[in-house]
Amino acid sequence: MSGRKVLILGGTTEGAALATELVARQGERIDVISSFAGRIQGLRPPPGRIRIGGFGGAEGLAAYLTAERIDLLIDATHPFAAQMSRNAREAAARAGVPRLLFWRHPWPRHPLDRWIEVDSIDAAAQALVHLGPRVWLTVGASELAPFAAVPDRWYLVRLIEAKAPLPLPDCTVIEARGPFQLENERALIRHHRIDAIVSKASGGRATYAKIEAAREADLPVVMIRRPLPEPGDRVEDVAAAADWVAARL
Ligand code: NAP
Repeated sequence: MSGRKVLILGGTTEGAALATELVARQGERIDVISSFAGRIQGLRPPPGRIRIGGFGGAEGLAAYLTAERIDLLIDATHPFAAQMSRNAREAAARAGVPRLLFWRHPWPRHPLDRWIEVDSIDAAAQALVHLGPRVWLTVGASELAPFAAVPDRWYLVRLIEAKAPLPLPDCTVIEARGPFQLENERALIRHHRIDAIVSKASGGRATYAKIEAAREADLPVVMIRRPLPEPGDRVEDVAAAADWVAARL
């Protein structure tokens, strides 16, 4: 492979879509490497090469960029992967590698949405005290513990993979991977007689159907606000990211 090297920090639908687009558009002219944290066993690898596991902070990533002679860095991590995004900004600056942030547009708030906006997982758990007992949690497996402290709650938890026993006394777990369709989300709300949903303000199409289904059912959604995005070049769609790469080849 003699082309220039692009490293995509992924773990998102958009990161995979971008790898697909770059390989399709540029072929042998670029070497696309997608990086994953390694939390998910059943990874669906996008086209190009993949690498798995942390780099060892911003310093480790900067060393990787230099050692691997990476030409361009694309941060296509999830809007809540704030640590990795910060590392990407610092490492790109240290190694002198141009960096692009793939910024998922936030979900707009519809007038009929009953959102209770909070700033953290802990605050989301506290907000449940005022809501009904049957709650659908759509947060990560590592973020469930604070919900155990809310008395008399039953939880529906949807995870890509449920590896370990969950820290919740009363819950039902569903393993599923997005994108999710509206009919599916309506059926879950009906079948499990959901009173409230907890969601991160992730944005994007893949998980928006639950927000629409909640609106239709007039359910409250405890919406955890995003961290602020890192500064620098940013785009909101795959085509624009591929154009940014093409302009620098
Ligand atoms: P994070 O807290 O920002 O990152 C923690 C550490 O995980 C980073 O410092 C880095 O370790 C490693 N890491 C994260 N993303 C990586 C990547 N793409 N390639 C290599 N190492 C990575 O991240 P997180 O919130 O745990 O998210 C982990 C992964 O899951 C990300 O790829 C993200 O896109 C994806 N994801 C996250 C969420 C979410 O809600 N947070 C939702 C869906 C998908 P080192 O410091 O050792 O390099």
